[in-house]
Amino acid sequence: MQSKISRRALVKGGLIAGAVIPAMGLMARTASAAGLPPLDPKDPTAQALGFVLDARKVDAAANPTYKPAQKCGTCAQFQGKAGDASGGCNIFAGKSVPVGGWCKVWAQKPGAS
Ligand code: SF4
Repeated sequence: MQSKISRRALVKGGLIAGAVIPAMGLMARTASAAGLPPLDPKDPTAQALGFVLDARKVDAAANPTYKPAQKCGTCAQFQGKAGDASGGCNIFAGKSVPVGGWCKVWAQKPGAS
């Protein structure tokens, strides 16, 4: 039995794979961002960085640089989109943080106020 694969079939297959593989990667990234487990405030790193689920509960005496407008949703490290209730964080990889959370690493997101 002889199996011949034409050059046309190879090119066609390559074009389809070239279009499908990046789309699969995009879907995987979207799914993983949405399915991240929430960061536990009792996590040792979270505790060290003063992470709280609700920025309104930040101990201002212990965190003198904290300002009321600071929260995960306005932080440069926040990976969620506008309107998301929570999203990934560059500091706490593999975890999600609520838009209203806060930690000592907070830095103004460009363009957010
Ligand atoms: S680094 Fe920013 S987004 Fe991440 S937990 Fe701290 S304040 Fe929230």
